Amino acid sequence: MNNKEVRVRYAPSPTGPQHIGGVRTALYNYLFAKKNGGTFILRIEDTDQTRFVEGAEQYLIDSLKWVGIEIDESPLVGGPFAPYRQSDRKNLGIYAPYAQQLLDSGHAYYAFDTPEELEEMRERMSKGGQKASKYDYITREYMKNSLTLPTDEVKERLNSGEPYVIRIKIPRNEEIRLHDIIRGWVTVKTSEMDDKVLLKSDGMPTYHLANVVDDYLMKISHVIRGEEWLPSAPLHVFLYECLGWKEEMPAFAHLPLILKPDGNGKLSKRDGDRLGFPVFSLDWIDPVSGEKSSGFREAGYLPEAFINILAFLGWHPTDNKELFSLDELIENFSLERVSKSGAKFDPLKAKWFNQQYLRMYDDEKLADSLMLELAKESIVADREKLVNVCNLVKEKATFINELLDLSRYFFEKPKSFDMGVIQKKLNAESESILLGFASQLELVEYSNALEVKEIFEQYCQDQKQKAGTYMQLLRVVLTGVSAGPELWEIFVLLGKNEVIERLKAVENLKSS
Ligand code: GLU
Repeated sequence: MNNKEVRVRYAPSPTGPQHIGGVRTALYNYLFAKKNGGTFILRIEDTDQTRFVEGAEQYLIDSLKWVGIEIDESPLVGGPFAPYRQSDRKNLGIYAPYAQQLLDSGHAYYAFDTPEELEEMRERMSKGGQKASKYDYITREYMKNSLTLPTDEVKERLNSGEPYVIRIKIPRNEEIRLHDIIRGWVTVKTSEMDDKVLLKSDGMPTYHLANVVDDYLMKISHVIRGEEWLPSAPLHVFLYECLGWKEEMPAFAHLPLILKPDGNGKLSKRDGDRLGFPVFSLDWIDPVSGEKSSGFREAGYLPEAFINILAFLGWHPTDNKELFSLDELIENFSLERVSKSGAKFDPLKAKWFNQQYLRMYDDEKLADSLMLELAKESIVADREKLVNVCNLVKEKATFINELLDLSRYFFEKPKSFDMGVIQKKLNAESESILLGFASQLELVEYSNALEVKEIFEQYCQDQKQKAGTYMQLLRVVLTGVSAGPELWEIFVLLGKNEVIERLKAVENLKSS
């Protein structure tokens, strides 16, 4: 098993938007594949047609693309084990022969119980004080299946087209041991397991059968998936044994849950709505209910930051380094360094990551995004100015979509002003200082922050004033707000003429 070529798969069911837990599973699979020179496969597990949601598959693909995960084999790109969508595989008749093999070897059986009969069984059991009502080695003895009915009757029922399912026959008193790379050895008593359905009455395989058959046929070397699938793993191990594939069984790694910020239970959409952060990768509008789920992309997260956030939800490097590019993650990732205990999602830390990436981000790329925002408001700006503005204001931003608000005054005159500062600082004297400075500027030129600073300081000295007294007022008169990047840089980017116009408008301000 250890010498096998590394082939891993991300196998989501297209049932709605992708929770960050799903993207993290994809990411860890991808990192593991790339680290080991292996192959990353996207398999769509859509056998439960009642849960199928239009558009969800495309959403999954878009979301992996957004974060920069390249898929080697998938329904879209194909590959040597195509098709990669389970409904297509079912139509090719891939699963039924394996259910038949299990029937023939006595590891599975037909069950004809109607939904009403199953319900009756559950009621009977819960009245009898059973905690969980299961179709298992005890109850199967009392139900309508090929273990209890005479052979002729089974044949008759099958020939007459009566609906049936095929169930696995879990042995009574055995132990199933499985090794998990993250959790070590896990042992489960078969008496605690139930006879899960493998093939449904509509001929569709269930998740369990399709998942195991496909992992085998697609030569999957490692199954890396969320902890919620750990309870299914013993059944999967048992299926590998029954189908004679023990030697080919993949290694398992079940990733820790992603928990609410307070650590109390699984992170859900409701936590995000309640506390104001996204828990999905991209925005999603439910095609039926119209309900909106917010995504990290639309909330202004950079994909580079998003993968860094996800990588740290369960994995830690050997040192204290926190910022990792995708390539660095590939370089450093190992399943052995994934912890078993749940990973708390910390929304403040998530913002922190984004802020760090935004600060390091290429100004040209930020300018592209700001230009689009400005275009929506029909504001046209010079490219060089945009790049410089982004360079200046990105320090103050956490999200890319804050850039416009932080920089609007570079592109249009402020429409409102911090009146607290105006009331406190604007009086006849300060007004005349500002107007005088405007006149002074008309006579000189400046081309950088230092020059304009010196011009102002000289001017104040000539007026026997302290420059510091006017800084805040200058800022508010020019930008409308009392916080922002270095004042003298603002002078440079606005340009002398615009600065003079805004300074002169101080007269209107006082009267307003
Ligand atoms: N289809 C399962 C899901 O939706 C896949 C679980 C697995 O990876 O085995 O997550």
